[in-house]
Amino acid sequence: LRSSHSPRKRFGQNFLIDQHIIAQIVHAISPQKHQHLVEIGPGQGAITQPLVTEVDKLDVIELDRDLIAPLHQLFAAQKNITIHQADALTFDFSILTNEKKSLRVVGNLPYNISTPLIFHLLTFTDYISDMYFMLQKEVVNRLTAKRGTSDWGRLSIMVQYHCQADAIFNVPPEAFQPAPRVQSAIVKLIPHEKLPLVANNYSHFANLVRDAFSQRRKIIRNSLKEKVSDEIWQQANINSQLRPEQLSIEDYVNLSNILIGL
Ligand code: SAH
Repeated sequence: LRSSHSPRKRFGQNFLIDQHIIAQIVHAISPQKHQHLVEIGPGQGAITQPLVTEVDKLDVIELDRDLIAPLHQLFAAQKNITIHQADALTFDFSILTNEKKSLRVVGNLPYNISTPLIFHLLTFTDYISDMYFMLQKEVVNRLTAKRGTSDWGRLSIMVQYHCQADAIFNVPPEAFQPAPRVQSAIVKLIPHEKLPLVANNYSHFANLVRDAFSQRRKIIRNSLKEKVSDEIWQQANINSQLRPEQLSIEDYVNLSNILIGL
């Protein structure tokens, strides 16, 4: 890999250099000929190169203008790749396909935008079959957390409302150039075929979860005092003396559905 480009902190650039880790990522994704992949933040093509030869179609989305010409050069011979110079945070992923559940999204994401980017991608789950992301390990722990643990929070609930979330493997800082200060891990997100639980008013549900976790140490009766009366707690069959991390997704969905039905 050539490297005239010096990594930029503001774009969250930590380029993968460990070929063994790159091979492990590709193996986990297991790309197949007829598939349509989307890579967010291809950088200098570390993961792009082994992926592009495996699939029919690969769209890559890169924000850093200085990386666009080198990417075009690197993939000049590949007809199946489309390079988009764009911000993934505002990118309309639905323009890439006419087929539902067709996109396989991958990325070694800039850690500073990983949470908003995942929230953005959750609005396109109709078009996405699965997602594989390299993230800060701590974020992977939150995405895959179980109810009742200290990692269970707004991110776990909103992501697991839409997706099955599984941690795949850890990646040490030395796998990157420059090495990040934190441990990393790969997470796999598979949007549910059909939502197991449905919030009748999604933004109400999202706001309720946000408010419940706004003061994690408080009991939910106090954090949600403005929204939820004792009568409603009873109707929802939830003990209002609990802390927000002790409630399940189903509890939050039920509570939201009762409140909007009033
Ligand atoms: N996939 C490469 C690069 C990872 S670094 C590798 O593994 O080596 C993260 C990449 O995301 C960088 O190329 C950075 O420029 C790009 N990036 C940062 N913010 C972005 C955004 N908002 N939209 C798209 N790409 C972005």
